[in-house]
Amino acid sequence: MKVLFHAPSGSGMEDWIAQFSAALPEAECRHWRSGDNAHADYILAWRPPVEMFAGRRNLKAIFNLGAGVDAILQLGDSLPADVPVIRIDDGGMAVPMAEYVTHAVLGYFRQFDIYQQQAARREWKQLAPPNKKDFSVGILGLGVLGSRIAEALAHFDFPLHGWSRTKKSVPGMHCYAGDAELDAFLRATRVLVCILPLTPATRGIVNSANLQKLQHAAYVINVARGGHLVEEDLLAQIQAGQIAGATLDVFAHEPLVETHPFWKEPRITITPHISAQSVEEQTVLQITGKIRALQRGETVSGLVDRSQGY
Ligand code: NDP
Repeated sequence: MKVLFHAPSGSGMEDWIAQFSAALPEAECRHWRSGDNAHADYILAWRPPVEMFAGRRNLKAIFNLGAGVDAILQLGDSLPADVPVIRIDDGGMAVPMAEYVTHAVLGYFRQFDIYQQQAARREWKQLAPPNKKDFSVGILGLGVLGSRIAEALAHFDFPLHGWSRTKKSVPGMHCYAGDAELDAFLRATRVLVCILPLTPATRGIVNSANLQKLQHAAYVINVARGGHLVEEDLLAQIQAGQIAGATLDVFAHEPLVETHPFWKEPRITITPHISAQSVEEQTVLQITGKIRALQRGETVSGLVDRSQGY
């Protein structure tokens, strides 16, 4: 069995290959280099160049070394049509993602941003605690990561709303589905959490029109992709007072340039795409398990529906 890898330079590819080689000793694992079109059974890649797929035959599966498949699906028809694309599901990212979002939601609810500013001024002043019933959290995307975030927040009794493409039923959560129910979801939401895949249907979804439908003095937490957020719309809605604060982990262009206006806006908290980094050990375990299952002719989870873009 031949396994071919690609990841952008600087992402520790040699280490990944060593781990896969150890976990899958029956395979010959090698790093793809430009011009290499020798046969491979499986491709494991993050942001692969189109050339990697040119003229490939008898490929059994393409594994995306991450949860989001927007970068690989951008290759469109250059990806072999009949080959399954399989993404990482969870792979150790769900708990860190839940930690990140819970931290941000609790920070806003407990007014830590204001207490930090007061402390900087050496000001001792107790604020009236907000009412939890006015602090509903709305999660855009109820997949592997969104549902783990919801589970974490449920422990703190926040009113929970969730939006997905197909209708879900989650105890303790008001579930909405599809474009027809997006407005109702937004109007019920005070803290908006975006954990959607980036697809043609979801690009730019956090825009002026939708931000204005949120409850007044709302908060935005984007841990999905920068392309979900219309950056100038967020700034305008913060300046207008409709949005009280935002925590952003992902941006249209990363790294965020020093001159970006977000850096100067004190109501925006910025982190450098760290909300959930893939855990090598779990990724290796998951992919090797799936390769062995495919070799036995079994089906595996995480199969990407290319027509939906995730
Ligand atoms: P899943 O595929 O498990 O879940 C996606 C969810 O989004 C599903 O609930 C799906 O609905 C919903 N959805 C997709 N399209 C639409 C639509 N058009 N309208 C309404 N709902 C929609 O993905 P994961 O939870 O594993 O990951 C989500 C995203 O998180 C990834 O695609 C990636 O971009 C991002 N991510 C970010 C990381 C970071 O470090 N910042 C790390 C890891 C992932 P349905 O359930 O009906 O299919």
